[in-house]
Amino acid sequence: MNFMLTIDGQPVSTGAMLDVINPADETIVAKCPQGNREIVDAAVAAARRAFPQWSAAPDAERVAKLLEIADLIQNHSKELAELITLEQGKPQSGPGANQELKGAAAWTRATASLTLPEQIIQDDAAGKILVRRKPVGVVGSITPWNWPLLIAVWHIMPALRVGCTVVIKPSPFTPLSTLRLIELMSKVLPPGVINAVTGGPEVGAHLTTHPNVDKIVFTGSITTGKQIMRGGAATLKRMTLELGGNDAGIILPGTRIEPLLEKLFWSCFVNAGQTCAALKRLYVHADQYEEVVRNFADYCATIPVGNGMDPKHLIGPLTNRMQFEKVAGYVEDAQARGARIVLGGRKPPGPGFFYPLTIIADATHDMLVVTEEQFGPALPIVKYTTVDEAIAYANALEVGLGGSVWGNDPQVAAELAGRLECGTAWVNQHGALHPLAPFGGVKCSGIGVEFGVDGLKEYTTAQVISIAR
Ligand code: NAD
Repeated sequence: MNFMLTIDGQPVSTGAMLDVINPADETIVAKCPQGNREIVDAAVAAARRAFPQWSAAPDAERVAKLLEIADLIQNHSKELAELITLEQGKPQSGPGANQELKGAAAWTRATASLTLPEQIIQDDAAGKILVRRKPVGVVGSITPWNWPLLIAVWHIMPALRVGCTVVIKPSPFTPLSTLRLIELMSKVLPPGVINAVTGGPEVGAHLTTHPNVDKIVFTGSITTGKQIMRGGAATLKRMTLELGGNDAGIILPGTRIEPLLEKLFWSCFVNAGQTCAALKRLYVHADQYEEVVRNFADYCATIPVGNGMDPKHLIGPLTNRMQFEKVAGYVEDAQARGARIVLGGRKPPGPGFFYPLTIIADATHDMLVVTEEQFGPALPIVKYTTVDEAIAYANALEVGLGGSVWGNDPQVAAELAGRLECGTAWVNQHGALHPLAPFGGVKCSGIGVEFGVDGLKEYTTAQVISIAR
């Protein structure tokens, strides 16, 4: 298959090509054109030209286009899901690539259903005050490699819904599914409404500092998020930053653990742990510690790990060597500081970036695997003695995307969950998202929210019309 950039409704190539590597066997999946600054300029110019007409289109027309795109995603889901497994690694089975496609279609439909009606603040003899929401303009979207297609949809659909035009730059590790999605979308949208470029930090930085881009929506690391914010400051760009986290899960004393094991597993290890709102450190009471560690490790040992194209595998490789080395390094650091590796911890022989499901007992807050975002299938389990101590541990880091409390009484757990410093606090689950519930982080996990009416507003500016009578 031939992969092309999309600019002004046209497929575009460049002289240079980028190799996309299959993380399961380290072979080249495909090549795609490598973007550059000039390509970004052309894409932004096309988006700028398309903006007046698209933003002035009747609301019903944009809703109809989004629903048409949702059908396109659904009709091409097999092809797109295969591309995701090949470039990113998550399996076809389980909550993997096919699930990502289902989410992409569902989020597109849910976004189509949202409206931002005019608000009347005052309407009396003295005057009338209206608040209207206007599209912010040209949106630059920068996406990561972990859920490449779903995050692209999260960025693009609300922008299009309100009348913005978009230039998207996927991660150079996983550009293929996005390039194909944009190619499909460009067949139903007016030229320039959606454009796709490729490239790494330099191309991304050019987009985030571009004078003709009005807003940046970014999902990725905190370090890059801060650079993007600095870059956008010169032109005072609007920003939505989703910067991941290091979510804590607290199991309350005396919790019956057996019925929760499957949910706990996917909360930690969906997409081999490469999920912004995955449970990344688990806190267990001292009285129950050994029982939970043993039961959870035994459960994890039953999960088949391997090439995601084989339907029997539920966990695939890490997406790239950088991530593999990071996870391996954090586990080594934990071991050197006295942690017990109860399961995994050693790379299996053979090609691919496979890291085994790893359970790290006796983990403490002086280990990198606890204090940094490991973004991989290695879970540290920390012992606590009082619930207050567990909450203090959970809130001790500079991040706050999600958190969870697990217990026999959901009411009690929900009250404690409210004390977590995070954007979403779950009870007896972790990472469950809803397209109408605002999702975002507090502290260094980001700025702004995605999804629902609150997410939609982030692609608009408020205009007040104030009429004297
Ligand atoms: P990253 O933040 O470096 O890259 C994300 C995106 O930003 C990519 O498209 C990249 O090309 C682009 N980019 C990089 N530097 C840029 C710059 N200066 N200006 C503009 N765009 C730029 O993330 P990564 O290297 O893909 O992963 C690093 C770490 O980030 C991971 O180890 C993981 O901990 C974390 N991460 C978090 C999420 C999340 O959903 N929160 C997703 C992926 C990675």
